[in-house]
Amino acid sequence: MTNDDLSELTIAKRRDVILERMASAAKWAGRTSSDINFVAVSKQQPDDRVLAGLEAGQTIFGENRVQEAMGRWNGAFAEHRESLELRLIGPLQTNKAEDAVLLFDVIETLDRMKLAGALVKAADKTGRMPRLLIQVNIGVEPQKSGVLPDELPAFLKSLKTEYDILPEGLMCIPPSGEAASPHFWWLANLAKDYGLKTLSMGMSSDYETAIKMGATHVRVGSLFFGART
Ligand SMILES: *Cc1c(COP(=O)(O)O)cnc(C)c1O
Repeated sequence: MTNDDLSELTIAKRRDVILERMASAAKWAGRTSSDINFVAVSKQQPDDRVLAGLEAGQTIFGENRVQEAMGRWNGAFAEHRESLELRLIGPLQTNKAEDAVLLFDVIETLDRMKLAGALVKAADKTGRMPRLLIQVNIGVEPQKSGVLPDELPAFLKSLKTEYDILPEGLMCIPPSGEAASPHFWWLANLAKDYGLKTLSMGMSSDYETAIKMGATHVRVGSLFFGART
């Protein structure tokens, strides 16, 4: 069965297939499948699909825009909020730090000291601090956000000394149009070098590869919910 075939299935069935494939990839790599989490990327998806995801038992969701996420998870689906884990996987502006800290359980896109400062300030004010991942610009692409791999050690050190922040792990979006596996491999090595345990990598087209290379969180959107509207 190719990835494209999933569009014929219900969202609940697609979830079963994705979880099965995740388990096979984990087994291939000699890993425990309970160590690997399926993050359903609900950005730009209509409510009926998100509801179908919730009804299928999905509990971890990823969003890339704070405003859109607030509309959804404080709005139509507010009653589900308590039983879910919400992860911000898109760029965060400092002026949205307080909203983000209030809504998300995990922010995967910490990429600069100014943002760290804004998050700490928002945490002091709200009494809530999400777990944090550092986004790494693993392909060293000029237009992409993320800490450059070479700058990661200094960034980690500054986070610790200036704000006493200990991130949980790393996240990356490899360059499009290139094989993802060398980038996944490199991110996994960086995480190992710095003793970070969470690795968010892999999307609809390459989540199985990412698991084979050590991903603890795969972010799957269109394969699960269908093409974005
Ligand atoms: C949109 C998005 C995804 C999901 O992409 P699909 O190809 O639809 O699975 C994953 N990660 C990030 C950071 C995204 O913005």
